Amino acid sequence: LFRVNQEYYRDVLLSFVGSNQGQSGIIWGNAKPDCVIVTSGGRHGKNAGYSNIRQNDGTWLYIGQGSSGDQDPTLHSNSLLASVQRDVLLFSTREPNSAEAKSNGHHKKLYKFEGIFNVLSWDLKLENEGARKGDKLLIFHLVPANNIYDNYEVEIPEEKIETIDINKLYNKIKNDNRDRSKKGISFQEYVKRSLDVKIYALLRAKGICELCESPAPFTNSKGKPFLEVHHIFRLADDGFDEPENVAALCPNCHKEAHFGTKNESIKEILVTKIYHSILLSK
Ligand SMILES: [Zn+2]
Repeated sequence: LFRVNQEYYRDVLLSFVGSNQGQSGIIWGNAKPDCVIVTSGGRHGKNAGYSNIRQNDGTWLYIGQGSSGDQDPTLHSNSLLASVQRDVLLFSTREPNSAEAKSNGHHKKLYKFEGIFNVLSWDLKLENEGARKGDKLLIFHLVPANNIYDNYEVEIPEEKIETIDINKLYNKIKNDNRDRSKKGISFQEYVKRSLDVKIYALLRAKGICELCESPAPFTNSKGKPFLEVHHIFRLADDGFDEPENVAALCPNCHKEAHFGTKNESIKEILVTKIYHSILLSK
């Protein structure tokens, strides 16, 4: 399998999914029907007048296919991303420098593996300037699949937490999710909702790790118990932002949930524990 930050040639990417596509920045094939490879940078983006952007929080804004006029979400390559169901393997493109080209005897581009992502949402955005002025471009918001919120710092207004009614917050999250259409939420909305779900999990845990049931090992700079909010199932699965899908964990348990050999059984344990904990918090 691919290793993050390691570089590969395009034929390796193509054979992984079972494809022989030439120039496309979105690559798919029958060998891996659950995933799609996307490449960022290189000529594809430049010719089309746009570039994909890595955000400070580790997420990416990835532009769809279509080099003139409005981009079409029903175009097969774009629809693979718009369906939001597939794992996205993201690679960034680099031209070899002259020394490399000389020693390799060719100018093949290199593709650096950035990781596995999921499509959180997508939007058609009207370009106001540049080569694509007047065109609507498809913007896919790619979020790391595994440690989705771990690198994603949201400032929680902790002084206010005690005043929040946990049942009201639970119902608000449920209502928000009910009228959410999968593609429809904006980045700002995503940030707002992720904050609600995070605050909710911390309120429910009351400073006790929801896996090992020990008190938080230390307090944070504001004197509150330090717990991290973990998502039990990944973004690609249904119900990502549901109260049932989050657990407030001590840093040890959080790491084990991601990287331990028992991470699958931890999922089952958490589902049961959270179920009971929600019943008790009502
Ligand atoms: Zn714990």
